[in-house]
Amino acid sequence: MDYPDVLLYIDGSWGPSRAGRFLPVVNPATEAVIGKVAQAGATDLDAALAAAQKGFATWLAVSAFERCKIMRKAADIFRQRAEAAARLLSLEQGKPLAEARAEALAAADLIEWFAEEGRRAYGRVIPPRLGNVMQFTVKEPVGPVAAFTPWNFPINQVVRKVSAALAAGCSIILKGPEETPASPASLVAAFAEAGIPDGVVNLVYGVPAEISSYLIPNEIIRKISFTGSTPVGKQLASLAGLHMKRATMELGGHAPVIVLPDADLAKAAKTMAFFKYRNAGQACISPTRFLVGEPVYDEFVDRFVAEARALKVGDGLAEGTTMGPLVSERRVEAIASLVQDAVQSGAELATGGRRPGNAGYFFEPTVLSRVPTTARAMNEEPFGPVALMAPVQDLDAAISEANRLGFGLAAYGFTSSAASAGRMSREIRAGMVSINHQGLSLPEVPFGGINESGHGTEGGADALEPYHNTRFVTHLQAS
Ligand code: NAD
Repeated sequence: MDYPDVLLYIDGSWGPSRAGRFLPVVNPATEAVIGKVAQAGATDLDAALAAAQKGFATWLAVSAFERCKIMRKAADIFRQRAEAAARLLSLEQGKPLAEARAEALAAADLIEWFAEEGRRAYGRVIPPRLGNVMQFTVKEPVGPVAAFTPWNFPINQVVRKVSAALAAGCSIILKGPEETPASPASLVAAFAEAGIPDGVVNLVYGVPAEISSYLIPNEIIRKISFTGSTPVGKQLASLAGLHMKRATMELGGHAPVIVLPDADLAKAAKTMAFFKYRNAGQACISPTRFLVGEPVYDEFVDRFVAEARALKVGDGLAEGTTMGPLVSERRVEAIASLVQDAVQSGAELATGGRRPGNAGYFFEPTVLSRVPTTARAMNEEPFGPVALMAPVQDLDAAISEANRLGFGLAAYGFTSSAASAGRMSREIRAGMVSINHQGLSLPEVPFGGINESGHGTEGGADALEPYHNTRFVTHLQAS
């Protein structure tokens, strides 16, 4: 399969970096170099900044009605090429083709949802205290945005940020993922072909720290959006704060899954195993800490292990593969080290735990049982195909363990008791709680965390808010 050289998209044109720098792109299933991506330098970033400034003025003059039409056209174009984008995504990132297809098609739905939402960014008329005063608020776009997106969902993470920015009336400079650059570039190409004016959407790649430290302080940029790890998020949020820039931070998680003895165990094991090993566990909302009622603990672990063993690990583009490789050698080493530490801390290896074959960044679907809370994996975000299981005495103990860490992104619960479900929804400290099914990530529902998992939402009706300034006007009218 052909892999394109991935270029920078600045001010409506695709081109190499002005410094002539490129980075190699590697297929994680084979470790072969499949192509290259342009690496932006300061001159490219200056050009992107000037383009975003000009693009903002152009886009501001386009009505919300027209913006919606252009965005809907981009959604149509991308939906038509979803299969090609999915193949690129699977090749460069490793995920099974079925998952890549779902990600590409969901991107088109998400663009449409934001396109429509942008037409409903209403201000308010506020009842005045005097009869001859008119007072109201208006929503205005914040200005050019700098957005930083990771490699795990290269299309999905870009589409959330670019769609919200465009719907609100902002221009954007996207720093795409260098590991997986071609699939997000195909998304940006769809926006360009749909008629987004030059400079409104710009796409760069390079050295992440160089780009963020150059763009965030620049006075043209008015808003930052970042998806990635909590430590990097904290650095970028402090830089944004130093320059009084608004910031949305979608950071790491360590999702608890509470399984009570009255739950439908077969359904819980099947639903959560599918979601655990999706994208080889490289998802911020991946279920990680399974807190299972003692009376059903062994049965649940057995069911989950059977689901894990039934997965077919392989090249994402190969027929029948249900779990692909990790994205990089670095991730394989990180997961192997967490598993080793857990076993040394007293955990039982119920299945997996090894690196299969002798090429590609593969790691077996792994289940660790009776993992003590002192193990590193119970405290650091694993971000890989590892399920950590521990028995709990009752719901109090489960909620207390669920809330033990600073993270607060996703949480899951399984029970047939309405009272227990009510307690989980009220007492688990997480931005998103899903009970008796996996119901997260749709365009129309909030997506975001609290505490160390960040702030702001990238889905649902509130997702435009971070891209808007609310201005107030009060007008004393001549009587
Ligand atoms: P990493 O910390 O090097 O990079 C994580 C992401 O942040 C990458 O996309 C990278 O390009 C970006 N990044 C890093 N430093 C940056 C900077 N100074 N400015 C701007 N962007 C920067 O680690 P990695 O090995 O690529 O990934 C490992 C960890 O990252 C995982 O354990 C996970 O916690 C986190 N991660 C989270 C998400 C998510 O969806 N929340 C996605 C990818 C990675």
